[in-house]
Amino acid sequence: MRIRIHRGTREIGGTCVELESAGARILLDLGLPLNASDLASTPLPEVDGLGREDASLLAIVLSHGHRDHWGLVPKVGDRIPLVMGKATESIIRAAADFVPDAVALHAAHYLEHGKRLDIGPFAITPRLVDHSGFDAYAMEVEAGGKRIFYSGDLRAHGRKGALFEALINHPPRNIDTMLMEGSSLGRLAEDQSFPSEAALEEIFVERFKDTAGMALVACSAQNIDRVVTVYRAAKRTGRTLIVDAYAAEILKATDKDSIPKPVAGWSNLAVFIPQGQRIQLVKKNIASIVDSYRGFRLWPEHLAEHAPRSVMLFRGWMMRDLDRARALAGASVFWSQWDGYLGAGTPGAALQADCESRGIPFEVIHTSGHASPGDLKRLAAAVAPRRLIPIHTFEREKFPSLFENVTLVDDKQWTEA
Ligand SMILES: [Zn+2]
Ligand SMILES: [Zn+2]
Repeated sequence: MRIRIHRGTREIGGTCVELESAGARILLDLGLPLNASDLASTPLPEVDGLGREDASLLAIVLSHGHRDHWGLVPKVGDRIPLVMGKATESIIRAAADFVPDAVALHAAHYLEHGKRLDIGPFAITPRLVDHSGFDAYAMEVEAGGKRIFYSGDLRAHGRKGALFEALINHPPRNIDTMLMEGSSLGRLAEDQSFPSEAALEEIFVERFKDTAGMALVACSAQNIDRVVTVYRAAKRTGRTLIVDAYAAEILKATDKDSIPKPVAGWSNLAVFIPQGQRIQLVKKNIASIVDSYRGFRLWPEHLAEHAPRSVMLFRGWMMRDLDRARALAGASVFWSQWDGYLGAGTPGAALQADCESRGIPFEVIHTSGHASPGDLKRLAAAVAPRRLIPIHTFEREKFPSLFENVTLVDDKQWTEA
């Protein structure tokens, strides 16, 4: 088996790995580069079969639903079979109704935890992992007598940290080459760790107690771990979590009983449809989805009265609706995403400025979706591959001093597994 990383040996984003064995090939991920301005002007990696038909490219396997891992797939069309988790497919489909230039993807096969999937000469065994993206997998791939392990994106400090410990305790065996992500290198010192989602829950509880009005949490609805953290903190402080139709549809798409969603049996949950979204739903001809929120709806005229007992999953453009409903008295905004999204010229920076002009306190409460250097060390030691290749990192030169058996490769360079 041969391996070729098209993107990711020196950067986070645009991840794409080509595997070849016995004349057949698959791709692991086909992501959008972080610095891509738009899809049209971003070229596909030079992989035979992506542009012109080539039957030797058997499938594109997506580790999870973050765009830096699948964002270029729409450029390929539906000629090549896609493989992904079932919930990943559902969440991408649900988001397509709300996110600009998003599309639905259709899986030919599903990744399932621990269930071997054969595609031509490739035997793929997925491992569900803890990550800020839901339904994320690491993968063992065996072909031509060689075994590789691709970490995908993962961490140990989220709500599914037990999955990381299980991976450490029962690692894949006899791995020839491990492709391991290193997002946290350079963002965190080697001996530092990220706060856990559980620790974040405690911080939110304290802040919600101290907030007189509505607590506004700006986080990604697709960061399901975080939504659960915020929901639990809301419930513990006697507050109701208010979500919009987008978040409601994402939560429903997880199709998991333990995830809060506006369906019978869940308390401390309400749905508010901002005006801009109401117009969008009509335009998209899906206004009828709001019928399914019956019993959970919160109307603009009730927002002010409910504010002191509410937490809202919120984005900057919703400020208009809250202002109009006079629901901002005593409010606080909590930024629960990467602080890189607060850089100059971003919507995050505009929100921060808006809060400042309105006298609304603004605080960052966040933890990373990626493993700390210490947890990566534990993973590398447990898997003990014959060769470890850095991927999904801006700091590959830090790898050799942290891990054993590191080999640095370049983008587009073929290497034997
Ligand atoms: Zn990710
Ligand atoms: Zn990623």
